[in-house]
Amino acid sequence: MSEHGVVIIGAGQAAAQAVLSLRTEGYEGPIRMIGDEPQPPYQRPPLSKKFLAGEIGFDRVELKPAEFYASAGCELLLSTRVAAIERPKKLVLTGDGREIAYDKLIIATGSRVREINVPGFDLEGVHYLRSVGDVHDIQSHFKPGAKLVVVGGGYIGLEVAAVAKKNGIEVTVLETADRVMARVVDPIVSTFYERIHRAEGVVIRTGVTVDGFEGEGGRVTRVVSGEGESFPCDFVVVGIGIIPNTELAAAAGITVENGIVVDECGRTSDPDIYAAGDCSNHPNGIYGRRLRLESVHNAIEQGKAVAATLTGKEKPYNQVPWFWSDQYDLKLQIAGLSTGYTQAVVRGDPEHGRSFAVFYLKDGVLVAVDAVNRAPEFMMAKLLIAKHAKLDPTRLADETINMKEVANA
Ligand SMILES: Cc1cc2nc3c(=O)[nH]c(=O)nc-3n(C[C@H](O)[C@H](O)[C@H](O)COP(=O)(O)OP(=O)(O)OC[C@H]3O[C@@H](n4cnc5c(N)ncnc54)[C@H](O)[C@@H]3O)c2cc1C
Repeated sequence: MSEHGVVIIGAGQAAAQAVLSLRTEGYEGPIRMIGDEPQPPYQRPPLSKKFLAGEIGFDRVELKPAEFYASAGCELLLSTRVAAIERPKKLVLTGDGREIAYDKLIIATGSRVREINVPGFDLEGVHYLRSVGDVHDIQSHFKPGAKLVVVGGGYIGLEVAAVAKKNGIEVTVLETADRVMARVVDPIVSTFYERIHRAEGVVIRTGVTVDGFEGEGGRVTRVVSGEGESFPCDFVVVGIGIIPNTELAAAAGITVENGIVVDECGRTSDPDIYAAGDCSNHPNGIYGRRLRLESVHNAIEQGKAVAATLTGKEKPYNQVPWFWSDQYDLKLQIAGLSTGYTQAVVRGDPEHGRSFAVFYLKDGVLVAVDAVNRAPEFMMAKLLIAKHAKLDPTRLADETINMKEVANA
């Protein structure tokens, strides 16, 4: 590499990991990280959990203290948006007119919230949750007795509901599908979470399509459904998914197909450009197909893979995806992908208890697990999924047989 070194677009989870790993892999050249947010890289999971609840401060959310980047020889350009990549000249152009040259470029632009396109979408009090700034806006409504309508019963919506409820807020969750978290978990898990939230006093309404927001004085006061219902509110949080930030790459002629297309080492269709994290789409050997994942684990591992490749030590990324969600005292841990499963095996009692696991088998082979307050099941399943282990469903469901014995049968 020559004097320009590595430039990273985005200053989030994958970008921070790439800096750390470039240095631990022995890369000594210049690194520039360009991010459009004012903060140095931080973790997003606490934004809908302990940070939203006010239980931890930003010092526990940032990935590394700001001084780390200077000591690691990484120039941080914050509050700076990259507007274009000029591949023939190997330059990135920033929104404020700067040209920054690169030898190797890493695109780690993450994703943005999917916005709801209904009348009243721009009323004050309608919020999304992606950044620290969003948390502060939402927290400004946290007054006991205030009414919150959450649009979308996915993880983020349900985590927000749990935190808001703990803060004395009246919460209604509106979900279009016939159950919460329908995109990722089995009906058994959805039914469990609906029971828990209802027991906490959250109103969960499924099969409801939000048709618009109405307000007074420019401020939201009601959410209106396509079914003709009206839900009074003081504020709204919309959590209906994300869109990967791939436009820069696409405009530069890099291959994009449901994410920036990369190989297992993070290489894009341009040999000098890499991509990592939410914005990328990578091949996964365990499932034999391409995946675009939205998780911390994926951002970290891709950040590591890209750094290794850039320093000439290929360490292909090929792992079982995993994710978690915290709601009340419940830790949901998900490993693998349950798509196409043929049998769901339950271990524990989701109807009455607060701890169980659902194993997803495809023709007898374990492909995924949803574990609620069941760390041992989650850990063991993660290993077994990678090995394409064939398991006996009867033994798997039998809690008198421990997981090690089930695995060794
Ligand atoms: C509220 C919330 C809760 C979550 N909870 C969990 C969880 O419990 N478990 C889990 O595994 N995952 C969770 N996630 C997902 C996880 O945080 C993401 O998958 C992860 O942050 C992805 O990292 P990334 O580096 O790809 O993107 P990000 O961390 O989003 O970083 C990308 C950065 O690039 C910036 N950027 C974009 N375009 C440009 C540009 N043109 N110029 C400059 N900068 C740009 C963005 O503003 C952003 O700062 C959660 C996400 C949210 C929002």
